Amino acid sequence: MSRWHTPSDNCLICHGAQEVVIGVRERGPHERMHDYVRVLFCAACDVGEVRTFSYDDFVAYGEEDDVMVWSGVLVTADVDRLRAEFACGTPLDHKCQCAQHIRAYDSNVRANKTLLAEYGPARHSPDGRTTVTVRVTDGLAEFC
Ligand SMILES: [Zn+2]
Ligand SMILES: [Zn+2]
Repeated sequence: MSRWHTPSDNCLICHGAQEVVIGVRERGPHERMHDYVRVLFCAACDVGEVRTFSYDDFVAYGEEDDVMVWSGVLVTADVDRLRAEFACGTPLDHKCQCAQHIRAYDSNVRANKTLLAEYGPARHSPDGRTTVTVRVTDGLAEFC
């Protein structure tokens, strides 16, 4: 794994460290595969995001990138809604399989995130990112 494959959860805007608000799901890190979904919050910029990181060394050459990072902006009000409404006592537990964690993962897949450039000078540029919102359905927080 090269240094480019080391995941960074730093803020896309100010490059500072971010708080992990929700650990939605994580597999790995394994030597040739690592992926996760997290809700991150930057106190300095007062903005959050849903971040998906996927490293898969098994993709066929030229088929797709081995590292794919997706992000959607979450405004602070939606981050606060998640903190208040996330119906699980261990929101940072990526391995949790409760109904709330599963709903968060499933709804994140459908949410409109932006694929970030992984290589080149525009790596992880926040320009043109889509915004994801949070709603509560049947007592469970979900992304939409
Ligand atoms: Zn920031
Ligand atoms: Zn849970």
